[in-house]
Amino acid sequence: MTESVIGASSPGAAARLPRRPLVRVRDPEAAELWGPVFGDQDVDALDADLTRQCPGQPHGECITVTGRVTDQHGMPVRRQLVEIWQANASGRYAHQADRGPGPLDPHFAGVGRCLTDDQGQYRFTTIKPGAYPWRTDFNAWRPAHIHFSLFGTAFTQRAVTQMYFPGDPLLAHDPFFQAVTDARARARLVATYDHELSMPGRTLAYRWDIVLDGPAATRRETNA
Ligand code: FE
Repeated sequence: MTESVIGASSPGAAARLPRRPLVRVRDPEAAELWGPVFGDQDVDALDADLTRQCPGQPHGECITVTGRVTDQHGMPVRRQLVEIWQANASGRYAHQADRGPGPLDPHFAGVGRCLTDDQGQYRFTTIKPGAYPWRTDFNAWRPAHIHFSLFGTAFTQRAVTQMYFPGDPLLAHDPFFQAVTDARARARLVATYDHELSMPGRTLAYRWDIVLDGPAATRRETNA
């Protein structure tokens, strides 16, 4: 009834009306449950140690990367799925789309995930990624970085960003990093070396906190 009224009064509106019969959805909320749902039983502790996912030890400098995920008031975001992906020590991704010059490491996949704990803390053991050439410009290189994804509670809340390492001379030349025009927001993308957290004879540690909202929110790629 409603469609026929609109169509009769406006030819333009009629052209945009569906031409096929409507499909009646029995339970609209059920669709929410069809998406991926990650529980803590799905995430194994080994998922957070990228140096132990393959039979042998990967090449490169073993590091710990840890920090808190909070809201703008410092309140922890608990049981948040944090995913990372990164290049190996030679700056090469274990992905068929990466045709870079660095060698692949058969013992490093470069993908990890974990859930934040009650304090909103995440923690990964991994290899410090290498810089890699970026062929959009002459002699362009991407500084060492780790890609982060925070899943939220639905696809629409997913936050994707990148963590950088302190003291990297390539930061001054990186178009992604420099695209963040606010200096303080840029600084918040750079991790801090934490000597207390470094494990003797095993890893050097970097701390990087992620703030999901507010004026000091960690810059996401979509609004970088
Ligand atoms: Fe990258």
